[in-house]
Amino acid sequence: MEPIAYVNGAFVPLSEAKVSILDRGFLFADGIYEVAAVLDGKLIDNASHLARLERSVGEISLALPDSIDRIQEIQKELVKRNNLVNGMVYLEVTRGADSGRDFAFPKGVKPTLIMFTSVKDIVNAPSAKTGIGVITVPDIRWARRDIKSVALLAQVLAKQAAAEANAGEAWMVEDGKVTEGGSSSCFILTQDDVIVTRQNGSEILPGCTRKAVVKLAEERQLRIEERAFSVEEALAAKEAFITSATVFVQAVVSIDGKKVGNGKPGPMTDRLREIYVDFARATAV
Ligand code: PLP
Repeated sequence: MEPIAYVNGAFVPLSEAKVSILDRGFLFADGIYEVAAVLDGKLIDNASHLARLERSVGEISLALPDSIDRIQEIQKELVKRNNLVNGMVYLEVTRGADSGRDFAFPKGVKPTLIMFTSVKDIVNAPSAKTGIGVITVPDIRWARRDIKSVALLAQVLAKQAAAEANAGEAWMVEDGKVTEGGSSSCFILTQDDVIVTRQNGSEILPGCTRKAVVKLAEERQLRIEERAFSVEEALAAKEAFITSATVFVQAVVSIDGKKVGNGKPGPMTDRLREIYVDFARATAV
């Protein structure tokens, strides 16, 4: 069966899902996206993703074409129409297609809303058992990384460099400190068992999975500090891991070819992964 996509009010086969070449998402990356995981046919932590969507569009003065409740209904309908069991729903909203290419916001143009799904068995991904290696790259992005903008060229280049180095992710570094992964939030576990992850701010995207993991760790009285850390500190750490909607909690076992800890996923990472999977199942909608 051909996958079904959603485009501006209609559910259509993926090959028929089209937007204008004048769409501002295409011309200017003038758009926002979100990715929510699907586990057993249900959306994971979706309220958090939709809250971030509302915030991101607000920061660029883009009005959503539908209510948040309606957007969730569309996500669910799309999961159903694709018989999706495990994977993700991608959604993107752009400032729509005007009649030309003026930079300033067009008047009277309806935003574009598209969605599609993809299949991924996040819980049983082989890399969850082995962990991944990461490389470090300079963070060359703009100054408003808290907005989940579709302008992802810096991350495309970072993740391509990672792929060429057979690494699973690129950690971006600025002023000697790790900002975040190409599409993930970064964590380390220090030698005295403190979980460290960079504080939110305009330097990073406020990860939904990061937020949930921080809360779940705090609820279990685990020691957690939100502050920046360097690559050297990460290499001296007991464990390192990343979080995102599409990997949940994923061990990082090497950085630039140098082992973190004993080069295997550590017990804290495994424990947080289990805790997150339980949370995901318990709160899925
Ligand atoms: N940081 C960046 C730059 C990302 O692109 C992503 C996800 O795509 C994340 C962090 C993780 O965010 P979330 O946990 O909400 O998926």
